[in-house]
Formats: sequence, structure tokens, C-alpha cells
Amino acid sequence: MGAGYRIRCRSCIYSSEFLLGIGGDPSPFYDHEFTILHPKTRKQVKSVIGHEPIHNIDYEYQLISCEKCHILYSRPIMEIKYGDGQVFTTNKNCSQCKGQGKVIKNLEDNINQLKCPSCKQKTLEVMNFMLWD
Ligand SMILES: [Zn+2]
Ligand SMILES: [Zn+2]
Repeated sequence: MGAGYRIRCRSCIYSSEFLLGIGGDPSPFYDHEFTILHPKTRKQVKSVIGHEPIHNIDYEYQLISCEKCHILYSRPIMEIKYGDGQVFTTNKNCSQCKGQGKVIKNLEDNINQLKCPSCKQKTLEVMNFMLWD
């Protein structure tokens, strides 16, 4: 179950839709879950984990704001528990500028803190537009 949000700016024409929340069912892990990841990330996951046993995978589509260029993007952030109690979390960084990505929790409460990716004003607003599963 997840939710769709439209974020738009009151100062400029910026408007974008994001699907956030859990993207899959919490069934036992199957290899195909990795297909939601970016191919580069998938490679990274495989090289880190190698042949260690995987115990649990959690992932959620998160809204992320780049701290450097301020673009907003949603990405499945995956937490993989493997091996002897190790945890691997997939990359949150901005694909445009490699800046650090910051996960935005409680979007509706925090939308006023975010800068518009386009005009850099803090005049974004959010609308919940649908549920998906
Ligand atoms: Zn960036
Ligand atoms: Zn704007």
C-alpha cells in the first residue's frame, strides 16, 4: 500500500507527482525484488552481499530532497539484512549532482521546509491524490 502525492509550487510552474510508501508485499524475499532497483544499485548490492545469506528485505518508496541542488525524487530505499547481522541500505544520493539525498518523512508536515526545485522558494504545497497497492 502506498500513496500518490502531487507537489506543486505556488511561485512558479513546478509540479510533480510521486508515489510513496511500500511498493511490494511483505512476502519472503525473492530475487526479482532487486529488479525495482537501478541496475547500478543492483550490481552494488550483489557485490556487497555476495553469497551471504539474506535474511530480510524491506523497502519503501521514499521522497528524497537533494541537499545540494534541491531536486525532489522518489526512489525505493531498500534495507537488506544479511550475513551475520549486517545491514545494507541502498543509495539515496542525487542522480543529477551526486549530492546528498535527505529522506523526507511526514511530507504533509514538512513540505514548508522544502525548497522548490525550480525557483528555490519555500512555497511548495502537497496534495494527496490517490492510493495504490
Ligand atoms: Zn542534486
Ligand atoms: Zn517554484
